[in-house]
Amino acid sequence: MHFLDQAKIYVKAGAGGPGAVSFRREKYLQYGGPDGGNGGKGGDIVFEAVSGLNTLIDFRYSQHFKAARGGHGMGRDRTGKGADDLVIKVPVGTQILSDDKEEVLADFTEVGQRVVLLEGGMGGRGNASYKTSTNRAPRQHQPGIPGEEMWVWLRLKLLADVGLLGLPNAGKSTFINAVSNAQAKVGDYAFTTLVPKLGVVRHKGREFVLADIPGLIEGAADGAGIGDRFLGHIERCRVLIHLVDIAGTDPLEAYEVVNGELEAYGADLIDKPQLVVLNKLDLADEELVAAYAEQLIEAGAEEVFAVSGATGAGIEQLLDAVLGYLPDRTATETKAAPEDDIESSDEWSPI
Ligand code: GDP
Ligand code: MG
Repeated sequence: MHFLDQAKIYVKAGAGGPGAVSFRREKYLQYGGPDGGNGGKGGDIVFEAVSGLNTLIDFRYSQHFKAARGGHGMGRDRTGKGADDLVIKVPVGTQILSDDKEEVLADFTEVGQRVVLLEGGMGGRGNASYKTSTNRAPRQHQPGIPGEEMWVWLRLKLLADVGLLGLPNAGKSTFINAVSNAQAKVGDYAFTTLVPKLGVVRHKGREFVLADIPGLIEGAADGAGIGDRFLGHIERCRVLIHLVDIAGTDPLEAYEVVNGELEAYGADLIDKPQLVVLNKLDLADEELVAAYAEQLIEAGAEEVFAVSGATGAGIEQLLDAVLGYLPDRTATETKAAPEDDIESSDEWSPI
């Protein structure tokens, strides 16, 4: 059971700079020779696999990447400045596919791997380069070669960093929808019990993948022979969020039932750090929340949070706590020049 995060992006290498038309001007020389330099080379489109990125969420915000054009050639035989390459950072595990998805153009398997996907255009020739014995004052020059451009798909297999637990109706789906970026929502198609709900969460400049773990367990328990396909998700989880419905019949019992299932499932799930969360805070008064929190702590919860997936109350603090369990991530910016979006591509497909 793998989930794909995908994004369609447009990339364009920089055009070469135009060549110059220029003639030498010197004090005692009436007709100086041609001295227009060549244009500079346009910037390449380069992809680089970096650590610290985990999803393709950035590409939902910026989908157009254009490298800069080369500088103009100049007089006195000066070549235009070559443009900087545009380096697009992607998570390890990303594949670049052609527009029709038929061809894998690049496959990033390790940190630091770089691929030049598109070369910047060559600069045009300046008039100095056209000088011959018969043509001493050429005015010919070339524009730069345009940069190549294309649409490509980025594709990444997602694994969950954070597992979400809770009995049916605890509010898991509501919670995932509340914390995941709306544009990165899990697809609208019907999920079967075999397909975990995933969401990509961005909080304070960091990002993580959240999955509905009981969905996984139930699926595995159905005996559909899918058990170890879920292990990747489960093993990867650094922390579990355990939602307890504050308005349910007995929150303490609900908490224990879920932990009982976890223990029975094995795979060291029960040993993962757990953030216990009283959910549906909007339905309870403070006193009740405090009383339940106390019961849960007595039952073994280390720290109890209270949130409302419906109103958003308390979610900020909970997500802060989640970040504390995730490995430190470097900045997630792509060094790029985004333009206006033309087409959104929030497609998620199970394979
Ligand atoms: P799941 O089965 O754990 O995925 O739970 P759902 O997200 O489907 O929610 C179950 C029910 O609880 C739905 O009717 C939700 O509208 C409701 N619900 C979920 N979160 C909240 C909340 O924070 N406050 C309130 N009042 N209702 C909620
Ligand atoms: Mg649900």
